[in-house]
Amino acid sequence: MSFRSFWRSPIMTAGQKLYEGKAKILYATDDPDILLTHFKDDATAFNAQKRGSIIGKGAVNCAMSAHLFKLMEANGVPTHFIDCPTAIEMRVKAVKILPIEVVVRNIAAGSLCQQTGLELGTILSQPLVEFYYKNDGLGDPLLTLDRLRLLDLATDDQVDQLRRMALRINDLLTAFFDQCGITLVDFKLEFGIDSKNQLLLADEISPDTCRLWNQTETDPDRRVMDKDRFRRDLGNVEEAYRQVLERVLSQAV
Ligand code: 5GP
Repeated sequence: MSFRSFWRSPIMTAGQKLYEGKAKILYATDDPDILLTHFKDDATAFNAQKRGSIIGKGAVNCAMSAHLFKLMEANGVPTHFIDCPTAIEMRVKAVKILPIEVVVRNIAAGSLCQQTGLELGTILSQPLVEFYYKNDGLGDPLLTLDRLRLLDLATDDQVDQLRRMALRINDLLTAFFDQCGITLVDFKLEFGIDSKNQLLLADEISPDTCRLWNQTETDPDRRVMDKDRFRRDLGNVEEAYRQVLERVLSQAV
């Protein structure tokens, strides 16, 4: 399906609304094992202190996540993805989402620079895996392994598995984006546990959740193709999102 027809297709009838987040709404379906995710154009930043809308974002994030979840599945990484009944909706397996944001970084940017003094753009000698507490009220604080244990957010085995999966996903995504002429700077993942206690990659993989730099640009503002354009008022946000999707969809998985 072309990007244009994705954009225009109608919305599926959904069941009961289960949860509304900043960028997505989750609905029940007739099947208790399947949920429907609706991707919104709403954009927030800095723990929702900044709010706005990015036209077409829902469709971009839905299509891009679908494509990258297929890439993951094709390479043995289990995900919650089932299919996309419309341009802005994704059917997913019902899972219990862990209250942990797993961030992988290849290049220093964002909070890593703010909190460590590392210079923006510093290439890390090896990927850095970090765990944050998914809790808006507390501002999603960085977790230590002892705090993960203290709060009983995941078992030690699950933490080991999350780290291994995050690094594998990083390898796959870094190689894929490289083929698109895009550098994967960093990204955030969320995971869920299914009825068989299996960890599945969940949420989304999109310009909302990844830092993506255009390899043909060296200017620190012009190269930005992700939500930092919105966060930092760099302009041309919609165009950047569309560009990323076009490049992603042009690469087979
Ligand atoms: P940082 O910690 O530098 O703010 O973010 C690191 C990476 O994780 C960035 O790619 C950023 O987009 C993503 N990220 C971290 N926390 C969140 C979050 O709460 N929401 C979204 N959409 N992305 C996040």
